Amino acid sequence: MSDARCAALDHPLLDAAHILEDRDVRGIPEVPNRVALCKIHHSAYDASILGISPDLLVHVREAILEEHDGPMLQYGLQALQLERIQLPRIVALRPRRDYLEDRFARFLAA
Ligand SMILES: [Zn+2]
Repeated sequence: MSDARCAALDHPLLDAAHILEDRDVRGIPEVPNRVALCKIHHSAYDASILGISPDLLVHVREAILEEHDGPMLQYGLQALQLERIQLPRIVALRPRRDYLEDRFARFLAA
C-alpha cells in the first residue's frame, strides 16, 4: 500500500481526482485520467487553486500564495508550490502527460 497516498503530500484519505473534467469528452473515470489526491488537495485541484504541470510540479494560484490565513493554508497549500508530485511506481497507474498538459493550460487561464 505504499502507493496509497496523496500525490501532493504524504498522507492518506484518498480520492481519485479527474484530470480532465466530466464535461470533457475525454474526461472518463479511468486510470490515465486520475491522480490520487486527498480530499483537501482534490478540492483545491478541482477549484484550480492548485495545478499540476505536465512535468509533475505543483503550482499554487498566485493570489493564494499571497494570502495569510494561518497554518492550514501555509503548510497545506502554499508549501506545495513547485513540489514534485509522487506517482505510483506502476507505470500503468500513472496519469497521462497530455491530459495533465490540457488541464494545466486551463489552470493557467483560470
Ligand atoms: Zn493531499
